[in-house]
Amino acid sequence: MLIGSYSFTLVFISLCVAILASYTALDLTGRIATAKGRAVHFWTAGGALAMGVGVWSMHFIGMLAFKLPIDLGYDFALTALSLLIAVLSCGFALWLVSQPKLPLAQLGFGALIMGAGISAMHYTGMAALRMTPGIDYDPTLFSASLLIAVGASAAALSIAFRLRQQSPYVRLIRAGAAVIMGVAIVGMHYTGMAAAQFPDGSFCGATLNGLKGNGLDSLVVVTTLAVLSIALLTSILDARLEARTADLAHSLTVANRELTQLALHDPLTSLPNRMLLDDRINQAIKKVEEQGGCFALMFIDLDGFKPVNDAFGHHMGDQLLREVGVRLREDLRSQDTLARIGGDEFVLLVRLSEPNDALSLAARQVGLIARTFRVAEHDLQISASVGIALYPGNGDNAQELLMNADAAMYHAKGGGKNGYSFFDASMNTNARKQLQLLQDLRAAIEHNQFCLHYQPKFDAANGRPVGAEALLRWAHPLHGMLMPDKFIDLAEKTGLIIPMGEWVLNEACRQMREWYVLGYTDWRIAVNLSALQFCHAGLVQSVAKALATHQLPANSLTLEITETTAMSDADASMTVLQELSDMGVDLSIDDFGTGYSSLMYLKRLPANELKIDRGFVRDLEHDSDDAAIVSAIVALGQALDLRIVAEGVETGAQQDFLTKLGCDSLQGYLLGHPMPAERFMQDIVRGQRLAVV
Ligand code: C2E
Ligand code: MG
Ligand code: MG
Repeated sequence: MLIGSYSFTLVFISLCVAILASYTALDLTGRIATAKGRAVHFWTAGGALAMGVGVWSMHFIGMLAFKLPIDLGYDFALTALSLLIAVLSCGFALWLVSQPKLPLAQLGFGALIMGAGISAMHYTGMAALRMTPGIDYDPTLFSASLLIAVGASAAALSIAFRLRQQSPYVRLIRAGAAVIMGVAIVGMHYTGMAAAQFPDGSFCGATLNGLKGNGLDSLVVVTTLAVLSIALLTSILDARLEARTADLAHSLTVANRELTQLALHDPLTSLPNRMLLDDRINQAIKKVEEQGGCFALMFIDLDGFKPVNDAFGHHMGDQLLREVGVRLREDLRSQDTLARIGGDEFVLLVRLSEPNDALSLAARQVGLIARTFRVAEHDLQISASVGIALYPGNGDNAQELLMNADAAMYHAKGGGKNGYSFFDASMNTNARKQLQLLQDLRAAIEHNQFCLHYQPKFDAANGRPVGAEALLRWAHPLHGMLMPDKFIDLAEKTGLIIPMGEWVLNEACRQMREWYVLGYTDWRIAVNLSALQFCHAGLVQSVAKALATHQLPANSLTLEITETTAMSDADASMTVLQELSDMGVDLSIDDFGTGYSSLMYLKRLPANELKIDRGFVRDLEHDSDDAAIVSAIVALGQALDLRIVAEGVETGAQQDFLTKLGCDSLQGYLLGHPMPAERFMQDIVRGQRLAVV
């Protein structure tokens, strides 16, 4: 029997190679687990090659470490075959652990195949020595080596399978596992070597034309290390890249989510906006078509929101809207959609089991809004008008449903607010009428269908005329003479009020110039401004231009703005009013007493006149509250050095009362109706004749 010996340096190196190969294999399984598409095949093939070379070279170095007292060589073909077996069984192992699941039976089967593969590699490698006579294998050790191969494979497979996913200490755990696996592989190899017995007089057939020589070990070691380090490096770099890509993808997802939120939600209340609502309505329509059932679209408009906004400022208004949103949501299920689609307009989309359920829900929503809101230490009272459109029935698409719910809402508002109403086909005609009116209004400007009527204002003390208020009339080709309450709102909503207002300003100045030339140089012509005109940037220039065109001194013109308009954005108003006042134009606060003026602002406003709202004048004789309010307004005006005008004077008693209180001028049907310029002048002249007589 030939006694073999080992080069311990090479044995140690073979152990290191085994550990490194194991580590590389574990790292690569992590790559395969997270790779997608073709990259999976790439990583499996590359991994099989690297790991196979690693395992094989461990074994081959182990062979080189073994010395017999005779010359040894290795048959090239068999050695190459052993390498091939190593690569194939490693490829199989990698494929196995990259499967989504690894049940015990599959693990056992895999371990058998891999163990067999490794053993086949080993014993093929031994056969490459081409010993004559053949190698005697000790049966116990031989079986032990097979068992170790299968056991080590089972351990390796299950460890590799578990360590596929990235976890905090994965590298450390992998390193530990790699040591165990390395030791097991080495153990198998040296057990197999120990099983080999070489009878005396053995001869190594491969010395003749096989691989041999001194540099062989270094060559194998260097090549293996190169292959393994390249594989490992690529794997680590790729993992980093993947981690960075994952980070990037994550931040992209977050950014995307934020963008969608912004694009589809109202920033103030975070409720869905018009766009998202449209989408939800379309989905709801589809669902009803597929599964039956019905849904309701409720158009909710707040009553009395604008005064709150005007009186307390936008900040409070915004907060109130937020509270309203929260309160409306209280009563909803998560699948219902509450959207905010405009200033104080909310829309609710609810699936119903039957149409009548809409009734109780609408009633509850109205009730919720009618409860007092507490916003920034203030108790605010508003209400809601709700219009309900049902699907199927009240429209075929999102636009129609919304339009009809809107029409129903207007109906609810018309019916006294703080309530709800279901859509009815007759309401649609209302909406159509509005649309027709809008078209007519556009044409009216082009076709000069507007005219001004003038209502005189008189000095309360001596009854002499002090000027007139210009009031807009529309000679509609079909409906006859229309009063402003029929069309001013629509003109404001659509912006048409801007060109209309410009026309009024010019026409009033033209008329005033005529009277001025006739000698009424101390008269003032009063022109009403709407809120929209007041916010429009060109107002000051328009006024200046109208005065210049008609050669009027600035104080021949009074601009009337309602209290609500003046107070809505008090700071901005202040600037515009100051510019107008600097020009010398006279400013009047119309409908005074209906808004929520703050004394502070009133004091700072460069106004010249307060017009007491005719609502107070009307009930003067019967309502002591109104009388008290009017005297308070007069006192206030006097204190602030403002002229006081009372409008809507219809009876002698009112005239007396207002005159006694100290109003400066009076206006009303008692003293003169609004009328066209010629009739106005005839009345004035007649009045003057009477005065003279
Ligand atoms: P206002 O500025 O308060 O105008 C006074 C309104 O009271 C006028 O109604 C006038 O006819 C009416 N009136 C006058 N005396 C009496 C009276 O003794 N009793 C009663 N019950 N009413 C009286 P009108 O002409 O229908 O105008 C309504 C509102 O339309 C005006 O209220 C004003 O706010 C607005 N308006 C009128 N013309 C224009 C305009 O050219 N531009 C703008 N932006 N608004 C206008
Ligand atoms: Mg007025
Ligand atoms: Mg008025």
